[in-house]
Amino acid sequence: MSTAPEKMLCLIIGSGPAGYTAAIYAARANMSPILYTGMQPGGQLTITTDVENYPGYPDGILGPEMMEDLRKQAERFGTEVRYELISKVDFSGPVHKAWTDSGNEIHAESVIIATGASAKWLGIPSEQVYMNKGVSACAVCDGFFFRNMEVAVVGGGDTAAEEASYLSKLCPKVHLLVRRDEMRASKIMQERVLNNPKIEVHWNTEVKEIKGVDEVVDSIVIYNNQTKAEKELPVKGFFVAIGHKPNTDIFEGWLDMDETKYLITQGKSAKTNIPGVFASGDAQDKTYRQAVTAAGTGCMAALDAERYLTEQGKL
Ligand code: NDP
Repeated sequence: MSTAPEKMLCLIIGSGPAGYTAAIYAARANMSPILYTGMQPGGQLTITTDVENYPGYPDGILGPEMMEDLRKQAERFGTEVRYELISKVDFSGPVHKAWTDSGNEIHAESVIIATGASAKWLGIPSEQVYMNKGVSACAVCDGFFFRNMEVAVVGGGDTAAEEASYLSKLCPKVHLLVRRDEMRASKIMQERVLNNPKIEVHWNTEVKEIKGVDEVVDSIVIYNNQTKAEKELPVKGFFVAIGHKPNTDIFEGWLDMDETKYLITQGKSAKTNIPGVFASGDAQDKTYRQAVTAAGTGCMAALDAERYLTEQGKL
């Protein structure tokens, strides 16, 4: 039996710093926001350890703890947090439609998107087999498990350089696997990597396979994409740092996106091409990608949504 669509003033999709900050502002503006957390409540910060660069925490704070605090702050002002996924939207009409993965239909006067981004993976089958059993996309989260072991990092950008440097403080040897003969990372990060005696850079190198023993990573097979020569490295930790992908698939066809699927916002605002739909956080930011910038754009989205609802006579 189908139930009537649920009506709401403000739907927030996503529960990272952008989503919760939008919720705090929207709740305080009487917009009765309902926030859907998505698959990873708290977002990417729940898979990090210490956050030391978020202003206001002189001694740092654990990522999951910070997200708990943000959630409580949003709830304190009346945000309703639902641990569910929005899996479909229809932005064709004046009322914005969305569906949860259990099939409930929502009619929202305004929508704030804060769906964030996810780490990209290489796409080789053995990567999935050993996920969280030696394969990771976050050195800061998981590096500790591989202290005193040999590890590898894939990627040539700032993230890969940063992860390799971080791991070199825990591990005796870090292999950095770069698929071209140069790195994309900033000069200073490259120098840091190249001058670190614990980091060995393998140029023109790709990964063929990850091998395991007793269900955990035991080695990887790499190959030189110029000479095709293969080599096996005895690494126990394998870190993929090849960039991020915005979580914007469900908005395809409705919202303007750039060529890498990041949502496009208008000028100095959180407005998308659809009136009443606003975008914040990493889903629309491939440049800064910080908790504090995500929170800032969440605030912008809520203020823009409040203005929109007021203009529409809904608030
Ligand atoms: P980037 O997109 O900058 O780099 C991705 C890297 O991964 C590139 O070297 C790319 O190679 C490589 N790569 C992509 N796909 C594959 C694949 N399938 N196999 C092997 N290698 C692959 O992502 P980052 O996450 O490094 O950085 C994102 C943004 O965040 C950048 O703007 C960066 O400057 C910023 N950042 C800044 C930091 C800082 O300032 N401290 C720290 C971390 C990130 P190729 O070059 O051949 O495409």
